[in-house]
Amino acid sequence: MLILAIETSCDETAVALVENGTKIVSSVLSSSQDLHKKTGGVIPEQAAREQIKCMIPVLDEALKVAFSNRTLSETVSQIDALAVTYGPGLIGSLLIGIETAKTLSYLWQKPLIPVNHLIAHLYANWLENNKVNYIKPNTDVFPALCLVVSGGHTDLVLMKNHGQLSYLGGTRDDAAGEAFDKTARLLGLAGFMGGPAIAAAAEKYRQQSEKNLPKITLPRPMINSEDFDFSFSGLKTAVVNEVKKLQQTNDFNTQTINALSYEIQEAITDVFEKKIFKALNVFKPKAFLVAGGVSANLVLREKLKNVCAKTKVQFFVPPIRLCNDNAAYIGSYAFFNYHPAPLLKISANPTLEII
Ligand code: AMP
Ligand code: ZN
Repeated sequence: MLILAIETSCDETAVALVENGTKIVSSVLSSSQDLHKKTGGVIPEQAAREQIKCMIPVLDEALKVAFSNRTLSETVSQIDALAVTYGPGLIGSLLIGIETAKTLSYLWQKPLIPVNHLIAHLYANWLENNKVNYIKPNTDVFPALCLVVSGGHTDLVLMKNHGQLSYLGGTRDDAAGEAFDKTARLLGLAGFMGGPAIAAAAEKYRQQSEKNLPKITLPRPMINSEDFDFSFSGLKTAVVNEVKKLQQTNDFNTQTINALSYEIQEAITDVFEKKIFKALNVFKPKAFLVAGGVSANLVLREKLKNVCAKTKVQFFVPPIRLCNDNAAYIGSYAFFNYHPAPLLKISANPTLEII
């Protein structure tokens, strides 16, 4: 089955064609991130306008990559269904994708599957890639412990099968990605995507760790709590206080910024390492899946891999290029959760939760 998937929940316009939920036939993406870097964050109105500009060219390119010189009617006859993200996300951005998908569905007379973007992130683990670690057909992964770590969400769920999810815990305040983004801004590292900037500064500190560098200690919020919830806003406050102290003594410089970055990354990833280890022991799943933008973090990947090895649970993490928003995992989700809905019943839900 070939599914044409559309993703426009935030600042990426993405279209992909995915076969049987696993094979990426084409995946095209245009991002308006460079525009938002100038303002230090996404301005929803501007993101929506960029979605309008990019939607048709991206769709056109994805079809060209998949079908090269075939006529439109030949192309349409190859597509079995359409899928589109209906939430969560920015209302203006979501609407562009949804209205495009509905129009195509009506014109081409193809079923349309509405997709929850947060659950769909996890399906990046079912997409074939050139690494060994993806879920191959007939691999039994259920029940799977699943962690979605993105800019706006941190959710831990137990997936008993496709479409059968139970909620175990999540952030009580800031998401992990938000913690990376906000602390990076406090350190003057990045106006927009903080995670990679913190990771790069932390790496500089780690490489020089044998030298007598400053050592800063930050709290690991809720690391020992009985539940599976997370909290990252306290970490941000702790960073504010550290920065103030360093500024007062004229010690806020590249070395201390790198030291703080290292400790921020350690604090966030330590919390996941400990809580996931606990969850693996309590729920005894067959597999652990992680996804979302923050799962691109190399230290996090390593720590999660190690806790899975210790508990002998299969570990899956998407290749870095599939951690960020794209339409390929939307197509994969739609294949494994094939529930087309009437067009009139599909509408944007900006505050949709994982379950
Ligand atoms: P998403 O919301 O899934 O699109 O992911 C975006 C979030 O992932 C942002 O908060 C980024 O700062 C974060 N992110 C991306 N790459 C990394 C990284 N290497 N380390 C930590 N966070 C990252
Ligand atoms: Zn996302």
